[in-house]
Amino acid sequence: MTDSALSRALARIAPSRTTAMTDRAMALRAEGRDIISLSVGEPDFATPAHVVQAAKDALDAGDTKYTAVAGSARLRAAAALHFERDLGIVVPPAQVIVSAGGKQAIFHALLATLDPGDAVLIPSPWWVSYPEIVRFAGAKVVDLPTRADGGFRINAAQLEAAITPATRWLLLNSPGNPTGATYPAEELRALGEVLRRHPRVLVMSDDIYAPLRYGAGAHATLAVECPDLADRVLTVSGVSKSHAMTGFRIGVAAGPLWLINAMARLQSHSSGNPASISQAAAVAAFEGPQDFLLAWRERFRARRDLCVAAINAIPGLSTPVPDGAFYCMVDAAPLMARFGGESPNADEALCLHLLEHGVAVVAASAFGGRDGFRISFAADEATLEEALRRIAGAVV
Ligand code: GLU
Repeated sequence: MTDSALSRALARIAPSRTTAMTDRAMALRAEGRDIISLSVGEPDFATPAHVVQAAKDALDAGDTKYTAVAGSARLRAAAALHFERDLGIVVPPAQVIVSAGGKQAIFHALLATLDPGDAVLIPSPWWVSYPEIVRFAGAKVVDLPTRADGGFRINAAQLEAAITPATRWLLLNSPGNPTGATYPAEELRALGEVLRRHPRVLVMSDDIYAPLRYGAGAHATLAVECPDLADRVLTVSGVSKSHAMTGFRIGVAAGPLWLINAMARLQSHSSGNPASISQAAAVAAFEGPQDFLLAWRERFRARRDLCVAAINAIPGLSTPVPDGAFYCMVDAAPLMARFGGESPNADEALCLHLLEHGVAVVAASAFGGRDGFRISFAADEATLEEALRRIAGAVV
């Protein structure tokens, strides 16, 4: 008999519930069911033509071989340009790594630095993979709960109270998935005051949604607001969300040299270099025109407003207005008694009910929340309107 026991590390984690729901929606569609998927965060816009052309050119030029593990020199330079131009972070290319999506950069950074006994502070609701990666690394997840009426942001006092000698990382995500939480500069500086007193704590600033801010003012990021802390901040970015390039799998991260080198050491044994064709496309994304991003953002803003208004008009459902990214965290607490009330699976039951009515969304519990679900509004207006009609019909 085959011994199919899994490693203790794998047994600690569950499959990604965002990708699981998306796979399920795809499978139902393949069976002929009419399913609208608002489960995964993926812009519906076509990848820009100049990016696609760069990928074709790379193929034609025979750019189909290994590159340096941490990314081609050309892309590391282009990513350094992106960090400086778009986020205000000045780094040399040697302090930039290119990975197979932002997810892989985060995975490698945490795996390279965490030991059993270490603790990682994660504001919740959180992106689904953060706690799972921490658990896989054998470290402890410390939940920093946030509330809708506090903009889903942690404050300095909460951070100070949570830090112990075991704390190794604070994970920040602004604008945040799934809540849209967006930290203004002064709040980051207040968090920085606390972090200065705790030199062992590293900070991951996941800025992948930086181009998608709907409020006034420039994007604020910790490495810029607190330059004296930059030698322990890893800033994660990419092209998936900004340039509609999810399938290319290119993420980038900038940070201290020791950490970038550690991540590259791990990457040299996991994937090796990211795909050469995708890297060529990402160079075009970072070096090419950026003006269309503003037009895209305005499209997303209109979709956000459409969704917020439609959700808040459905009895039993409500959502705050997200300040960034392309998700609404929908509160369905008044409806939960119908789906199992206090049961930890109640929001999953609600999502399965919505799936029966032709809409795929992800349960709030996947993100450390409860009594609701996340919708991605990265879909066209007609699709969103139809999805929201189906949701309204399903919960009346
Ligand atoms: N980050 C996106 C989401 O939350 C993509 C899916 C994933 O990697 O979780 O939907």
